[in-house]
Amino acid sequence: MKLFYCLIILLCLITLPAFCNHYEDSFETGVPGLSWTDVNGFHSIVEATAESRLSGISHPCSGTKVLMVATDGDTGGVHLVLGGGNGQNMTVEAWVFCEGNDTAPTHGGYQALVARASYMGNHNFVRLAWDPDHSEPGDSGDGWVKLQAYDGTTWDYLGIDYSQFGAQTPGYILNGTEWQSGWHRLKLTVEGNTVYAFIDNMETPQAVGTMSVTLRDGQGGFYVYTSGDYAGYFDDFVMDVTPSPTPTPADFDILINNGEVYPSGYQGPLWVDIGITGELITAIGDLSDKTAHQLIDASGLMVTPGFIDAHTHADSGGALLAYIRQGVTTVVTGNCGSSPHVTNVGTFYDSLEGTLGPNYIGLVGHNALRAAVGLSGTTPTVTQMETMKNYLDQALRDGAFGMSTGLIYATGYNSTTEELIELARVVAAHGGVYATHMRSEGEFLLEAVDEAIRIGHEAGCRVQISHLKCGGPSAWGKASQVLTRIDAANAAGDHVMMDQYPYTASQTTLDILFPQWALYNWAYAVTNQRSELEVDIRALIEARGGADRIYIISGTFHHQYLSDVATSLGKDPEDVMIDDIGPGGGSAIYHMMLESDVQTFMPHPRLMIGSDGPTGAHPRGSSTFPRFWGHYVRDLGICTVKEAVLKTSTFAAQQFRLLEQQRGLLQPGYYADITIFDYSTIIDRATYDEPGLSPLGIRYVIVNGAVIINNGTYQPQYSGEVLRLTSSTPTPSAATYWNAYY
Ligand SMILES: [Zn+2]
Ligand SMILES: [Zn+2]
Repeated sequence: MKLFYCLIILLCLITLPAFCNHYEDSFETGVPGLSWTDVNGFHSIVEATAESRLSGISHPCSGTKVLMVATDGDTGGVHLVLGGGNGQNMTVEAWVFCEGNDTAPTHGGYQALVARASYMGNHNFVRLAWDPDHSEPGDSGDGWVKLQAYDGTTWDYLGIDYSQFGAQTPGYILNGTEWQSGWHRLKLTVEGNTVYAFIDNMETPQAVGTMSVTLRDGQGGFYVYTSGDYAGYFDDFVMDVTPSPTPTPADFDILINNGEVYPSGYQGPLWVDIGITGELITAIGDLSDKTAHQLIDASGLMVTPGFIDAHTHADSGGALLAYIRQGVTTVVTGNCGSSPHVTNVGTFYDSLEGTLGPNYIGLVGHNALRAAVGLSGTTPTVTQMETMKNYLDQALRDGAFGMSTGLIYATGYNSTTEELIELARVVAAHGGVYATHMRSEGEFLLEAVDEAIRIGHEAGCRVQISHLKCGGPSAWGKASQVLTRIDAANAAGDHVMMDQYPYTASQTTLDILFPQWALYNWAYAVTNQRSELEVDIRALIEARGGADRIYIISGTFHHQYLSDVATSLGKDPEDVMIDDIGPGGGSAIYHMMLESDVQTFMPHPRLMIGSDGPTGAHPRGSSTFPRFWGHYVRDLGICTVKEAVLKTSTFAAQQFRLLEQQRGLLQPGYYADITIFDYSTIIDRATYDEPGLSPLGIRYVIVNGAVIINNGTYQPQYSGEVLRLTSSTPTPSAATYWNAYY
């Protein structure tokens, strides 16, 4: 291929309201018979810096307002910025200058530069940005293209091109039947959801599919090329702007009309409209005569507070797309005794700002606390205990919402109940939550529940029992006994709630099949205590229902049941564990629960939903909330719709005191964290073999007023915030608390 040096001026006519793109999750050329072209050989011709942003560049056309190419301050993003309009009907016309000619085969007659553009809003500049080095916050490996607008202070997303192209995946397209040197005029219009393109004053606009602007990785250049046989390289960008009329002021940024609204699990359904301005809900009621920059027609859809995932391991934050796609707008992290930090927690939280898809709640991990003071055994020294309490106290002051335990993991399994009570008192002083992965979910399930209740009672602390289950044959059928204990505790004035994921399998390491005593000195145990070790491993396997319920998902024998591995190796499962897997040998799915127990727990009025994600090989990480809503609520009728709203948002908002922060309700003055879904179609699709399949039915997900899922399409945005427990005033129980509000 030969080089083309092109100069482009884009002129877009954006009409309003023009939002709600209907994009496919696949990247298609839209040009039959054309395939992508190798672009090697093209090189950078433009180098720009952040300082050059918004500085004009001369060009031979009149009326230029702004033209630029700029890096985004990291190692490669380049943005084509178009500007000058200040309103909703901005007209932009593009000129493309090409030098040289393509000797490649015919171009297929496709004549378009295509943008997945949309609503422009009240902005002065718009840019197309490509960031192939995936260095943007939360980006996880693939480049993306986005359309943004500049309001004089910040860049806001408009309708967004679909992201997640591979870093070198070509975009397209600008093409005529024959590419020639000289100026070409290009005009884009957006009408409704469709983008039309004109080139060289052609009479009939082409409805076009997709546009992508790609950057030569690492060189700061910018090029656009077509879907097969043409590649162009732009060294300059100019634009010609027809000033738009003064934009019509809108009543709201977003207006949600015609939905079936549940302001909380205690209210609804109401057929009301919701107006959003900035981050906040600003009106609810009959708003049919109001205007907005984005209208969301929620006809036939349910509108509820954004789902709160009460139990996750999304500790490092980020876009958290798997949660967003489930309708989750807030995640609770730092669970099961593990958290990334126990000191400088506030600094860590600060570092997450601007990188988050959903809102973020952090807990302090008890095992992490122990590690931080060098405690591994049963009894802390006075100094160790005081230091743990000080760390925890400071973390709570920095915004952590409580402490979590992982009492089957190192080294929490060595802790005494007294140690936990003493730490929980610190949590209670801040009105936080004691969230516990209990000491047993199997043989000693009831004793473990009693311990959790006792800790909450003696410390005066609210309790969250994590991923409640009856794990293994020794616990099967005990769900009712568990609930009886929890009911009694709550009736006595304690505050105990729990979360559950809607599956009959768990996932964790294979190490839990080894006795703790052997892990202290594995080599010695294998050599000198082999028979004892075999007996204990066999018992641990049986405690989880047997080797034919243990599906290995990583390590040497991934995607095989432990029983099948044993058969194929001609060994007993315990010998496979000792000789062929060993400590650190991977993870497994444990099909260790009965559906009857799951369904006994689920409707309980103290139980909320938590995914325990992310776990790469368990569908709960991608599908917990849609599965709960579709399979259990709609199809099985496990609870009413309002109860389901309680379980997917309101209970968690109460437990983590989010109502004090104006979150968790659809009410004026509250943050616009909203999930809109189709109750008739919502369902999970992920399986244990394909755990990443995204669910169906989630139509809009709004986090702090930003629409991240827009009519089913993901728009990368990082509007999530780190929430912080700031009040040191212990609050009354959830029921009392609720009554204070209503
Ligand atoms: Zn856990
Ligand atoms: Zn967990």
